[in-house]
Amino acid sequence: MSMQPLLPGNLSSAGQSITLGVMGGGQLGRMFVQAAQAMGYFTAVLDPDPASPAGLISHHHIQTAYDDPAGLAELAKLCDAVTTEFENVPAPALRKLAETRPVAPSADCVAVAQDRLQEKAHFVQCAPISGVFPAPYAGIETAEQLAAVTDDLLPGILKTARLGYDGKGQIRVKNRAELEAAWAKLGGVTCVLEKLMPLQSECSVLVARGADGQTVCFPVQANTHHDGILAITEVFEGAVPAELAARAQASTVAVANHLNYVGVLCVEYFVVDNGAGGSDLIVNEMAPRPHNSGHYTQNACDVSQFEVQVRALAGLPLNTPRQHSPSIMVNLLGDLWFDRNGVRAQAGEQPVSPPWDAVLALPGTHLHLYGKTSARKGRKMGHLNVTGATVAQVRATTAKALALLGLPPLP
Ligand code: ADP
Ligand code: MG
Repeated sequence: MSMQPLLPGNLSSAGQSITLGVMGGGQLGRMFVQAAQAMGYFTAVLDPDPASPAGLISHHHIQTAYDDPAGLAELAKLCDAVTTEFENVPAPALRKLAETRPVAPSADCVAVAQDRLQEKAHFVQCAPISGVFPAPYAGIETAEQLAAVTDDLLPGILKTARLGYDGKGQIRVKNRAELEAAWAKLGGVTCVLEKLMPLQSECSVLVARGADGQTVCFPVQANTHHDGILAITEVFEGAVPAELAARAQASTVAVANHLNYVGVLCVEYFVVDNGAGGSDLIVNEMAPRPHNSGHYTQNACDVSQFEVQVRALAGLPLNTPRQHSPSIMVNLLGDLWFDRNGVRAQAGEQPVSPPWDAVLALPGTHLHLYGKTSARKGRKMGHLNVTGATVAQVRATTAKALALLGLPPLP
C-alpha cells in the first residue's frame, strides 16, 4: 500500500468527501469512527447488525454479511481506504476490497492473526530478531498428532486455532486423558496445545506502522484478566519493569516489521518466572487492530490508539505518542447492570445502570460507553479511564470507583 495521503475535507476523484471505511461495527469500530470524524473524515461501516455500535454513528452503514459481494462493492465505492476492527473478518473480503482500494492491515496480515498456528509460526520466525519466544506448543490437527504430544507440554492449555477470544475456545488440561477429552469437546477442530506457563503478570504493546515502514510504540500496558476477560489495564512508569518493557516494545516492532504490517497492531506478552529468581518474556498472541488494553490512550496520551489508526490508514505522519498522565482502565461488563455490591438482580428483573453520577464525581474519571442497547453478562458495555497527577492519586481514585461499582479491588 503506497499512496498520497488522504487529507480530511478534500474531495475524492469521485467527487465525494474523503471517506474512511471499517469492516466491523463493534466498539473498536465505533471509536475508530469517532476519531476519524473528529479529524473531519466521512466514515462508512460494514456490519450486518442494524444496531452495531459503530453503524449507529457512522455517515454510512452497510448492513450486509462481511463476504456479501454487493456490500463489499458498495463499501469500496464509498471509501478511499478501508481498515478492520476485528480479526475474524474474512480475509478474502479484505483481498477483494484491496483490488480497488488501499486496505490496512492487509488480508495476509489479518490471516496470520486469525490462526494461532500461523501466528505462533510467525513469532518463532521473529524470535532471532526479537529475542522473545512463544510458549512451547504443538499443533493438533489429527488424532496421530494428539497421540504424539510430548509430556513436557503438560499441564497445558488446548486452544482452538481459530475464532477463540476472551478465554473462549480454550480448555486447561493436566494430563493425556484430559487432553483427549478436551479435544473431543472442542469438536476435534485444529488446535494448539500450549504449555501452561508460570505467569507473574501479563502485558501488551501497541505499535503503529505506516506504509513507509515508520513505526511508533505506545507505553507498555500491564493487564489483569478475570475469567479470561481483560478487567484492568495499568499504565505508568514501573507498572512493567523497565527492562522487560523495552524488550516487549522492541519485540513488537520486530513482529510488525516482519509482517510488513500497516496500521495498529497489539501484541500480548506473558511475564514468567525464569526459574532463576528473575523474569522472562513470552509472546502470547496479537490483534491486527486497536486493543481493549489500549483504551487508556484516549485520555492519558496526546494521541489515542484510534487516532493513530486513522493516521496510518490515511497515510498521514505518525508521531511517537506521549503519555501525559498515569492511567488505569477498568472494563465495564454487562454484569455491572445486574450485579452490584454483591446484590444480584433476580431472574426477570430489568438491568439497572451503575451509579455513574457517583463514579463521575471522582476527579479524573472518564466514562466511555459503547451505545449497546442491551446489557448481557460478560458483554463489553464500556470502559472507565482514570487519570491523575500521580500514580498514587490514580490508584486511590480507581479504588473508589471499583468499590462504587462492586468490582474486586486493584491487583
Ligand atoms: P484469548 O484469545 O482468549 O485472549 P489467550 O491466548 O490470550 O486467548 O488466553 C487468555 C488468557 O489465558 C491469557 O491472557 C492468560 O491469562 C491465560 N493463558 C493463555 N495461555 C496461557 C499459557 N500458555 N500459560 C498460562 N496462562 C495462559
Ligand atoms: Mg488474549
